[in-house]
Amino acid sequence: MFDIQSDSQVLRQGQFADYSDSFCEPIAMTSAYRFQSAEQAAARFSGAEPGHVYSRFTNPSVHVFEERVALLEVAEGAVAFASGMAALTAVMMAFAESGSNIVCSRDVFGTTLVALRSYFARFGVEVRVVGLMDYAAWEQAIDQQTRLVFVETPSNPMQDIVNIAVLAGLAHAKNALLVVDNTLLTPIMQQPLLLGADLVLHSAGKYMDGQGRCVAGVVCGALPLITPLRGVLRTLGFSLSPMNAWLLLKSLEMLSLRMMQINQSALQLATWLEQQQDVQAVYYSGLKSHPCHELACQQQAGFGGVFSFKAGTDRHDAWVFINALRLISIATNIGDTRSMVTHPASTTHGRLSPEERQQSGISENLVRLSIGLETSDDLIQDLTQALIQMRSARLPHSFSLPQASALASLQC
Ligand code: PLP
Repeated sequence: MFDIQSDSQVLRQGQFADYSDSFCEPIAMTSAYRFQSAEQAAARFSGAEPGHVYSRFTNPSVHVFEERVALLEVAEGAVAFASGMAALTAVMMAFAESGSNIVCSRDVFGTTLVALRSYFARFGVEVRVVGLMDYAAWEQAIDQQTRLVFVETPSNPMQDIVNIAVLAGLAHAKNALLVVDNTLLTPIMQQPLLLGADLVLHSAGKYMDGQGRCVAGVVCGALPLITPLRGVLRTLGFSLSPMNAWLLLKSLEMLSLRMMQINQSALQLATWLEQQQDVQAVYYSGLKSHPCHELACQQQAGFGGVFSFKAGTDRHDAWVFINALRLISIATNIGDTRSMVTHPASTTHGRLSPEERQQSGISENLVRLSIGLETSDDLIQDLTQALIQMRSARLPHSFSLPQASALASLQC
């Protein structure tokens, strides 16, 4: 080796290629990879030799995350993306083309519908929207030009559920792929590929991260479907950062424990809320009163941590209730360790037309909760005092707050 100057030395000093003694997976913050020879570089680029090439499409930390998700979803492979919406975009890019159509459930995450209608429709892909549980409408809408059938089950925030096996049958009869957004339940509570779905998509910054630290997406499926998705990633580059992949791959280690705890708390809280005055309805598939409870028990191993309910009678009641919460935070996210509340009509579903909101059951007094890991007794205390304040806000001014609270607590 020839002598190199200190400016050059500082670039080379302390590099280590072998991470094998590190018990915790290292974060591979690298954009490029060193090849042993020009021949090896050529072989890696052509795919003749396996190995990393460039972090737009492969990276060791991202790879570990992908492997773990694939394992949980019982999939042959997975591809990670920068966000859930990037994952959706990649699925569209990989499988739909001008002149084809996508049939999508009406009851999906609001931005999914906006993405389909405002962006993908511009490229000549027709978007057909169908009620989640209207099987006759699915059958009618899916035809030979359908490339993708897209659903979120259970739906957010109403917890409606579609029979995945039945819908897969309808899609496959016309050679279309069924894509299931499994963000709400995670593979711990539902494994759509085992029920006949072709691809499973996640907004991985929700329960997979579980701590609200990053935005990420991932898609799982059989290798013949994963390969074109990696092609889209390689060329269009919606890449997940190694740092976020590392956060996620560590979080997955406790996903099962978190989901079990969250599921238990959510069921307890939903059951409790159902008995409260001024709560008109609770939408949680874990409740026997939910119209999809039986199907949920058949196709899910749990019910998740997101549910909604009607607080009082109008938007004013819902907002007073939300503003009164002290422990539960106002945030339009789901899947954090900390419980969160949101008002869907004015936030997550605010870009839908009033008619669409009505069709999806998003009323002005609907409140959505994402249950975290706080003890359920503390959460019940917070909900109790917020319901009391909601009632107090409705009482005539002559009625003082302490009196109102005392009365309301008797009714609670
Ligand atoms: N799918 C569901 C069910 C979601 O809740 C979200 C976001 O909230 C998305 C997809 C989009 O994911 P991201 O925000 O990671 O782009």
